[in-house]
Amino acid sequence: MSDGTPLLEVRNLKKHFARTRGLRRQVTGIVKAVDDVSFTVHAGETLALVGESGCGKTTTGRCIQRAVEPTAGEVLFHPDGGDAAVNLAELGRRELKEVMTQMGMVFQDPYSSLNPRMTIFQTIAEPLVIHRALRNRREMEDRVAELLRMVRLDPVYMTRYPHAFSGGQRQRIAIARSLALMPKFIVADEPVSALDVSVQAQILELLQDLQERYHFAYLFIAHNLAVVEYFSERIAVMYVGKIVELTTTRKLFSMPRHPYTEALFSAVPKPDPRSRSKRILLSGDIADPADPPSGCYFHPRCRFAQPICKEQEPPLVEVGADRGEPHLAACHFAEELELAGVV
Ligand code: SF4
Repeated sequence: MSDGTPLLEVRNLKKHFARTRGLRRQVTGIVKAVDDVSFTVHAGETLALVGESGCGKTTTGRCIQRAVEPTAGEVLFHPDGGDAAVNLAELGRRELKEVMTQMGMVFQDPYSSLNPRMTIFQTIAEPLVIHRALRNRREMEDRVAELLRMVRLDPVYMTRYPHAFSGGQRQRIAIARSLALMPKFIVADEPVSALDVSVQAQILELLQDLQERYHFAYLFIAHNLAVVEYFSERIAVMYVGKIVELTTTRKLFSMPRHPYTEALFSAVPKPDPRSRSKRILLSGDIADPADPPSGCYFHPRCRFAQPICKEQEPPLVEVGADRGEPHLAACHFAEELELAGVV
């Protein structure tokens, strides 16, 4: 559990891409993949980032890790848990490499994230080699064996290649690699969505168990609200590059304040077949981030839209904290609407 100490602060993060056409790569528009996103991840907590495909959640995670360069904004990392912070968005290559020893990444697809030509030993030891954490082969083998045991795999497998493993085992190997330098913060980008349903719970349980033992924080990127309910303390909902709602998991599930969050909840499968009739079917597609609608980006799909929604963009503001749990939403009518959550 988190003690509320900020570990990572994302402030007004933006990532814009140029949309180009033809051989001359003529710029035809600007795609605002991440558009003024701010949030904090506390030490030891899991913050989930959810939304439909293309909403900018993966790009946000990649900007934090500088896998893509942010267009604007700050990513403040507090490596010692105090007030001192480094802005990852501005660090040079050498300083960034040093700070990255405290950050890990777990990717969505364990079939493509592992190099088929590298043994499991080489795969897991790679961060140790790059960051010169251990130089001695014997020490590295001991460390890789320890990491494999941490993810509940037998160290005898370290000489094998990825093709010899199932999807769930490959994801365990990817998790072991992300833990090689014992980071304080891990970006887990849809870590179970490419796996069989039967394996998903095992991987989630492993991630949670590792967090309890080693107290690192997760930014957990997912599109499935059922998964994040199980896993996260707070949830940020993204729509077309912006956060539209952010609060604790308890509050979001019991009392959502944004119509988009309510629609996402209604799409979660329920055991009662009669509840299907309550599903909110959103009309139209997710807005084009290169040409978003005026005002509230969600207004063409929102069943509560009023004229003001077309004209004014709603800011992300506090809409009803209780029990010391802040609740932010970006909707002109957040405090008036009675939306259905999940009991
Ligand atoms: Fe719907 Fe208007 Fe709220 Fe946007 S601001 S979510 S369109 S009610």
